[in-house]
Amino acid sequence: MSDTNDERTPSKRTVGTEQKQGFGLVGKDAGFIPTGNANVMSEGSSQNGHDRGGRRFVARTLVPLLVLAAILGGGFFWWTKLRPVQVTVNGTLQSVTVGTTIDQIKQDENIQTASGNYVSVSGNVLAEGGGHPYSVTINDKDTPYDEASVYKVSGGERISIGDGGDRTEPYTTETVNQAPRLLMEGNVGAINYISQWGSTTVKDVLTGQESGEQADGTVYQQGQDCIVTVKDVQPAGNKRLVALTFDDGPSQYTSQYLEILKAKGVKATFFCLGKEVDANPSAAKAIVDAGSQICSHSYDHPDLRNSDAQTVLDQLTSSFSSIENATGVKTTAFRPPYGSFTQKTWLSTQGVATVSVRWDIDTEDWRLPGAGRIVSNATTGVKPGSIILMHDGGGNRDQDVEALPQIIDTLQSQGYTFVTISELLASDDSIPSDIASCDATMPESAVWPDEIGE
Ligand SMILES: [Zn+2]
Repeated sequence: MSDTNDERTPSKRTVGTEQKQGFGLVGKDAGFIPTGNANVMSEGSSQNGHDRGGRRFVARTLVPLLVLAAILGGGFFWWTKLRPVQVTVNGTLQSVTVGTTIDQIKQDENIQTASGNYVSVSGNVLAEGGGHPYSVTINDKDTPYDEASVYKVSGGERISIGDGGDRTEPYTTETVNQAPRLLMEGNVGAINYISQWGSTTVKDVLTGQESGEQADGTVYQQGQDCIVTVKDVQPAGNKRLVALTFDDGPSQYTSQYLEILKAKGVKATFFCLGKEVDANPSAAKAIVDAGSQICSHSYDHPDLRNSDAQTVLDQLTSSFSSIENATGVKTTAFRPPYGSFTQKTWLSTQGVATVSVRWDIDTEDWRLPGAGRIVSNATTGVKPGSIILMHDGGGNRDQDVEALPQIIDTLQSQGYTFVTISELLASDDSIPSDIASCDATMPESAVWPDEIGE
């Protein structure tokens, strides 16, 4: 209501006139015709003060605001839409209108580029030239094509437009846990041992929707394959070490062997059947008490290569348990019956066994060829690291008992020292110490493979 008083002061009338002029200046943009009318009313007639006051308010206050808004709006429009700015395009300074897209600049400047290819998730070309038409860096930063082509310049950018990159087909992404594979390293040798435990890889697998191809995406956790190494034992310095081994016991001959070994001051290794250990635990204990080594030769001598996975596992675990029960020795070393153990058989072990010991010198004592022949078979072709195969159980061993002292004497005269399998393995610098001790176990962090690889 204070408007009513204000309108009567002359100065305010002058303001009203100015507004009228100002209004004309803005013109139709303001589009507020009743304002002019308000001035006429205020000059020439005297209706009630309330009505006149409203019109005065429009003329005096709202109109200047509208004028200001129009000026500001126009300026804003110019600043955001029409202002010329400078950008550097491929090293040359260019003046362009603010907000111009890079796509437009490329056209206006006639910048020639070669298109990339349209490719599968594995990178195979699905359509030559079907990729992005050009590539862009903005202020030296690579900018994805889809983002770059519609980028509107604001001024001052350094833009580089080059040949287009490849465009990848649409694909789906699946995060997978990939178990390790079981690999064999080396082909020939008397021993097989786990030289590397496996672990799981966690990664994205991308499947191309057009090609159907698969490719690895992000790797979140890099695992490793399980590796079984096959080799002969090579004692450091080519030291003349040799191991005597007796299979299929313990038996009624075990004590005779142990007496000869004791007399000669020599140690050997007995690969025992769990079944025979269970039947004669004191003979098994005597082996350990004599300082020789005891390892597994399965529970009851099946050909493990022809056994199912569960049988392989059971044969190993039950024989390891029999040995531990009889002697207190925890071993994870074994000799497969018939030397028959493959990459596939290893897969069945689930990591309960860590070293498989075969032989490179076969006495063929099971043929009962005579003690002399057993001696010559045992001592011919021996080299540092050799493993000699003889038998404890499985039949009459009189010829072996007769041959054993001569075998020891002959090889000792050639400078050989008889050691256990653990001592032999420990003499080879490439074999891990826990494997050599024949009681290694799979680390908790390791994962057993679920398939074999090449
Ligand atoms: Zn055997």
